[in-house]
Amino acid sequence: MKNFTVRLNISIESNFDVEIEADSHEEAEQIAKDMIWDDELTGDITANSEITDERYDATQEFVCSNCNHHFTERQMTDKEACPKCDTPIPDNELLY
Ligand SMILES: [Zn+2]
Repeated sequence: MKNFTVRLNISIESNFDVEIEADSHEEAEQIAKDMIWDDELTGDITANSEITDERYDATQEFVCSNCNHHFTERQMTDKEACPKCDTPIPDNELLY
């Protein structure tokens, strides 16, 4: 097994109605907005949420056997070595 960091990018949309007493459209919308930002509708948001987009991006992680430096596949040298001490990454850790 090899080590990876996976960046998750999940877009969630939530649509629902709340009953509000107010004197105008603007006041009703402002009250609703305040309820959202005061976390009064967190349960409704969760109950009505659906994932509308999802992205996953895995990056392989390495630890140098020579100097113990932690680095990612994007930081390794062009010759697939530790960027700090230039020790090559062992073949069994590479994905070819
Ligand atoms: Zn190293």
